[in-house]
Amino acid sequence: MKNTAKLLNGAQFTIAAAEPRQWPPEPAAEVAFAGRSNVGKSSAINTIAGRKGLARTSKTPGRTQQIVFFDLGGGARLVDLPGYGYARVPDRLRAGWAVLIERYLSEREALRGLILVMDARHPLTELDRNLLEWCEPAGRPVHILLTKTDKLSRNQAKQTEMKVAQAVSELENEVTVQLFSSLKRTGVEQAREKIGTWFGDR
Ligand code: GDP
Repeated sequence: MKNTAKLLNGAQFTIAAAEPRQWPPEPAAEVAFAGRSNVGKSSAINTIAGRKGLARTSKTPGRTQQIVFFDLGGGARLVDLPGYGYARVPDRLRAGWAVLIERYLSEREALRGLILVMDARHPLTELDRNLLEWCEPAGRPVHILLTKTDKLSRNQAKQTEMKVAQAVSELENEVTVQLFSSLKRTGVEQAREKIGTWFGDR
């Protein structure tokens, strides 16, 4: 998996796209990250890529419409989908978010897999379930990162992992689950391995 670490480490910001027509051209191979605001998505992207300032935290409502693309070279990209569930986002923006994300997840040819970041203390919120639903019909594989596990005991974390794995086992697409912590850097290799598989270890 050294190659994947190297590939991810070379990520270059390409565009923060406010509209689908700004999405970079296909064919390409993209791995996207999604998750509730404040769940630790940016930290997870930075930890997995081994690059501190790569993904910025998206705490302002204006960012809810932007999809950020990072080039890895050779047509591979990381994609940071806007956070959601931000309390102060007006309904109008929230609806726009849903349309945009559903479109990306269901139509984007380049999408190889979605990393869905959840807080291990509050997994499978309604919005998380929406994201899973949008990936299922198109058969997109999803890898769930249960992050901030440093806030749980080892036993609690294991229990949560099992519960979530059980809950998603009925879905028709491939959905896998792992424990993660950006703070303690746990699960980093496992996440890179999954991403490497999706990129076909290029
Ligand atoms: P985002 O809004 O989902 O991109 O979340 P951020 O990556 O900005 O993280 C939100 C907050 O959670 C920040 O205060 C981070 O320092 C904290 N955080 C992120 N990952 C972890 C983690 O693995 N463990 C702990 N304890 N805190 C984390």
